[in-house]
Amino acid sequence: MTTTPPLGRPACAADPEPFFGTTEQQRAAATLCATCPLIEPCLTAAIDNEERYGIWGGLTPTERHRLTHTDGSWIDDAGAVRAACGTDIGHKQHKARGEQCATCQQAHDERTAGGRRARLIVEHAKGGTFYGYQLHIRLGEDACGPCTAAQARSSQKGRDTRAARLAVAS
Ligand code: SF4
Ligand SMILES: [Zn+2]
Ligand SMILES: [Zn+2]
Repeated sequence: MTTTPPLGRPACAADPEPFFGTTEQQRAAATLCATCPLIEPCLTAAIDNEERYGIWGGLTPTERHRLTHTDGSWIDDAGAVRAACGTDIGHKQHKARGEQCATCQQAHDERTAGGRRARLIVEHAKGGTFYGYQLHIRLGEDACGPCTAAQARSSQKGRDTRAARLAVAS
């Protein structure tokens, strides 16, 4: 006669709270799953039900999410699916929540600088402009000769206009 092996008590039955606690608590709780007789059905159930909270089958929400998603997206503590770090959307999502993320910030800065460099090519094709001068400054570099000359012409023009206005007013 064969007997089905006893299912055994899940390790989380005694105290489930750490399995849904802080990130630290969850990390510690996940190690208990390794000895749980229910680890496989537990993980399968969580994945099938797209469970977004807590440790199931020894994995965090993001770890489970990544078993079925390869776009770098992740699940935050509030259970929201978030865009991959380094993307424009990822950066916007951090910003909306007031979060700091070095990866997203760096990617954002690089994209901004790339856009400015591309725009600078256009301004140089025009022979250097005041806008080009500003772009050089925003890129943290000295402006080139033609852009500097354009900037000087712009400020001279500004001074002339102001002087003309004052002359009319007096
Ligand atoms: S594998 Fe599932 S049932 Fe087992 S301890 Fe972990 S969370 Fe609990
Ligand atoms: Zn990020
Ligand atoms: Zn220039």
